[in-house]
This record gives sequence, structure tokens and C-alpha cells, in this order.
Amino acid sequence: MDAARTYSLADLETWSRPGVSLAVLGHPIKHSISPAMHNAALAELARADARFADWRYFRFEVPPEELPRALELLHAKRFLGVNLTVPHKILAFTSPRVAAIDPAAQPVGAINTLRWSAAGWEGFNTDGHGLATGLHEDLGRALAGAHVILLGAGGAARGAAIECLQQGVASLWIANRTRENLDGLLTQLAPFAGEIPVHGFDPRTPPPALPRGALVINATSAGLKPDDPLPVDLAALPAPAAVYDMIYNPPETRLLAAARALGLPRANGLSMLVHQGARSLEIWTGGPVPVEAMARAARAEMAGRH
Ligand code: NDP
Repeated sequence: MDAARTYSLADLETWSRPGVSLAVLGHPIKHSISPAMHNAALAELARADARFADWRYFRFEVPPEELPRALELLHAKRFLGVNLTVPHKILAFTSPRVAAIDPAAQPVGAINTLRWSAAGWEGFNTDGHGLATGLHEDLGRALAGAHVILLGAGGAARGAAIECLQQGVASLWIANRTRENLDGLLTQLAPFAGEIPVHGFDPRTPPPALPRGALVINATSAGLKPDDPLPVDLAALPAPAAVYDMIYNPPETRLLAAARALGLPRANGLSMLVHQGARSLEIWTGGPVPVEAMARAARAEMAGRH
């Protein structure tokens, strides 16, 4: 078994490996940097503790229609843990093959981490932790008490919004291109908002009531491609405090370039990726993990691409 390879469901059918195996499933998955990140951490763990010597993390290309069989086989083959990425996070949340879901992940409606148990997979969502820790590490910002302007109303935005509410932001302002999707998200969030004011707006016409000094978080996919439009005109917002773009490839999106031009503190989503991965690995190992080794591996992978 080669941790640098991309495996398929057919490989899983005949999978036979004596050590502890971990995996990430996605579609597409070829460019995932999770294997590099996790295998770097496992190598470092193994240097201090021989228990980890035969732990390896593999990537599997799994289209959505193959997810049920993949989860069944991974469980039968005793993979200890699985990460899920696009398009599996929401599908797995409702999969009958997932026996239990961490209560903190329930409001998110999506899971990105599975842990083997005899009764079936246990599901967790570590993206919120990744976001909160990344914001703190890169921008020195806590979500608690912050005014947040969140861009997007898809799966990543929902996870980010729930994290904002769970951490106790001062207010949450959500902007999305398609009003219907925004309204859907606002309805889903309402039961979890408590006393926190949550508002929606059209990013083309930011309302005058927006707070000054807000933390702007991009959870749209606008920026993945070089000719994508800006998800919002930062200059039209009342003096934001900082900008965090969940996108990390490219490392500088048009939004981050605009933040740079305005002199705003800014960061891309690589720290979120690293910290969601670190939390997943903690769930599997049951102990502390070498986050810095994961961050180094992630940065090296990205540097190799640009
Ligand atoms: P979804 O497909 O669920 O949602 C996409 C969102 O982007 C929607 O709000 C959509 O708006 C908006 N959008 C797409 N294209 C445009 C555009 N051209 N202009 C304005 N808005 C647009 O995707 P996800 O929520 O799963 O992922 C969103 C982003 O977050 C991705 O770039 C992903 O890479 C990143 N991400 C990063 C992570 C990390 O660890 N750093 C973890 C998870 C996600 P509309 O409703 O109008 O279609």
C-alpha cells in the first residue's frame, strides 16, 4: 500500500493491510493534501511511540453513489478513522451506516470525521474547530464577542455559522448571491441563535446597519477560479477588522488581494484545513497530535504547487 497513491472502491474490495489504516474519501480527491499532512503527523508520533509505527493515511476517490459501499467496506476492513470531503459530508450525516453522531455536529447537518466502533461509525464535525483555531492563530481573533460578516450559504457557511453561534458572536450577518439559499440557511439557523442577532443580506447591496470592525469570513466557492467574481466588495463594508478566506488554493484569492490593497489583516483557509485535520487525528489517537508537523507538511504541499 502506497500512501501517495489514489485508491478506488475496487481497491477497497480487496484491501488487506495489517496496520492501522485511516482514509479520506472525496470526489475529486486527487489533489487532497490531507494524506501528506496526516502521514507527517503519524511519522512524528511514531518517533516517540512505537504504537503508531504502522499507522498510515490513504486517499480514496469515491463518487457519491459509491459512498454506502465504501463506508461498509471501510468498517468491515477495520479502518480506524475516515475523513469525508466534498460531496460526502452531508450524505454521511444521514447514512444508515453511521451509528452515532456527536451532539455538537447535529446542528451542522454534516460530518467530516468518522471513528470506528463495533456498533458502526461514529460521526464528528471538526471544521468549526478548524475555523475558530485558524482565525485565532492567523489573525489573533476570537469568534466570541465578534461581529461576523459571513459570505455564503452552502455547507461550509452553515458549519461556520453554527460555530459562530456556539462560540457566542456579538452578531452574525450572512450574505449570499442567491436569496432562496440564504433564506433556507437563516431558517435552519433560527433554532440555534438564542439571543444572537442573525441577519441576511444581498452582497451586492450591503445594508447601512452593518457593524464596523466586523470579521469577514468567506465561505463561498467564489475565488477558487481566477476569473470568479468577488463574493463582496470589501470597500462597500464599514471598515472590516480582518478577512479570512476559507479557500487556500489559490493562496491569494481576489478577495484576499482586495483585503491587501485596503491594508486589512487577512489569511487564507490553510490553517482551518490543518486544524480540522489535527482535531480528527486527536479523535482517532485519543491524545495530543503534532499540529506543527501537519502545518509544515500542508505548507510544503502548497508550495510544491505554486
Ligand atoms: P457549496 O457548493 O455548498 O456552497 C457554495 C457557496 O458559494 C454558495 O453560497 C454559493 O452561492 C456561493 N458561490 C458559488 N459561486 C459563486 C459566485 N460565483 N459568486 C458568489 N457566490 C458564489 O460549497 P461549500 O460550502 O462546501 O464550500 C465553500 C468553500 O469553502 C469552498 O471554496 C471550499 O473549498 C471551502 N472550504 C474550505 C475548508 C477549509 O478547510 N479551508 C473546509 C470546507 C470548505 P449560491 O447559493 O448563490 O449558489
